Amino acid sequence: SVQQRPLADRSPDELAAFLEAERAAHERLVAAGLRLDLTRGKPSSEQLDLSNGLLAGLAGPDDVRDRDGVDVRNYGGLEGIAELRELFADLLGVTPAQVAAGGNSSLVMMREVLVDLWLHGGVDSERPWGREERVRFLCPVPGYDRHFTLLDWFDIEMVPVPMTADGPDAAEVARLAGSDPTIKGMWVVPTYANPDGSVVSHEIAEALASMETAAPDFTILWDNAYALHHLTDDEHASADVLGLCAAAGHPNRAIMFASTSKITFAGAGVAFLAGSADTVAWYTRHLGKGAIGPDKLNQLRHVRFFGSADGVRAHMRRHREIIAPKFDAVRRVLDAELGGLGIASWTEPAGGYFISLDVMAGTAARVIALAKEAGVALTPAGSSFPHGDDPDDRNIRLAPTFPSLDDVEAATRVVATCTRLAAAEQLVG
Ligand code: PLP
Repeated sequence: SVQQRPLADRSPDELAAFLEAERAAHERLVAAGLRLDLTRGKPSSEQLDLSNGLLAGLAGPDDVRDRDGVDVRNYGGLEGIAELRELFADLLGVTPAQVAAGGNSSLVMMREVLVDLWLHGGVDSERPWGREERVRFLCPVPGYDRHFTLLDWFDIEMVPVPMTADGPDAAEVARLAGSDPTIKGMWVVPTYANPDGSVVSHEIAEALASMETAAPDFTILWDNAYALHHLTDDEHASADVLGLCAAAGHPNRAIMFASTSKITFAGAGVAFLAGSADTVAWYTRHLGKGAIGPDKLNQLRHVRFFGSADGVRAHMRRHREIIAPKFDAVRRVLDAELGGLGIASWTEPAGGYFISLDVMAGTAARVIALAKEAGVALTPAGSSFPHGDDPDDRNIRLAPTFPSLDDVEAATRVVATCTRLAAAEQLVG
């Protein structure tokens, strides 16, 4: 890649010339009339096609019973069918009794859990969270915007904590959670986090599992949405948070979520909740107030389609073949066009769905506006922060899975040009 000289080392005349050149480059992009989109963290249709076997469905009217002989067309079975729980227990590193298989969305399960906590409290709660004077939650940033909007919906106060390369800053979390009983929990996306791609190390998981918390019912919402979504041969195993919590004497502290939204169909997969046996019983007890059973037919279809946990792993490698080149393209373009300028840094995730780009402080919103003028939609500035507030106006989340490879490359070129232009505008002043 062409490593360029840092902008900080350039003279005022050189910077003025750089600014002019980038303005002209941006004008050419605007004139080109592109229509591209790097906002959507969803599978491409080519990826969805990998699971078209699900559309054929089951073998027919003779294949409507699960292993226990239950007719999956009928009501019942709140915790999901045994064989699917077993299959995903293997993949998630827990026991089948610790897993419930539900509908198509893990985000809905997260909302259900928060509603249950709010109305009734959790296994270890003294009272419903809704009866507390104040409820606060630790939010590692950058993070997943929907986690934040969900908390905001409850009026739960969000306390940002920094992410490190190995997950949330555990010392800061322990300091806050250890001293303040209004801090009731935290989000963690342990594997290939949205958006920074980091993986929680065993040490950080252990620290979070074992720390003393002022609230007896401190709850880690462990959203393992990308547990199996590797992009390289270095397939990171998720830390065994439930085992670590149990070993530390806090068996109910963590509640895990996962789904096949980015394994089979984003709109028609299966979601999972995992926790201690008490947590699963607590969850299904509350679930039962408004449900008689999940879509077991879809669950059985998923079992037949995959066959085994290894079937899922093999399937994920086919996803990787489709999307890894798109991540490579982003990296290649950013390296070539921004490398050495000292105005941006970006993650090189080993999995997941996102690349997190940090541009020069104070320019993210400007970069996004410039990209929009050039026909490239980027996630709004601040999206990865509570209330959309990125205090440094620096972070931009790139989602390369949905567009075609050519479009990913073209869109990233626009991002690079806009990043250079915004930086030059700021430096020239
Ligand atoms: N959790 C994270 C971290 C995500 O990035 C996403 C989707 O982007 C979800 C959950 C949504 O999960 P589901 O489709 O199972 O509701």
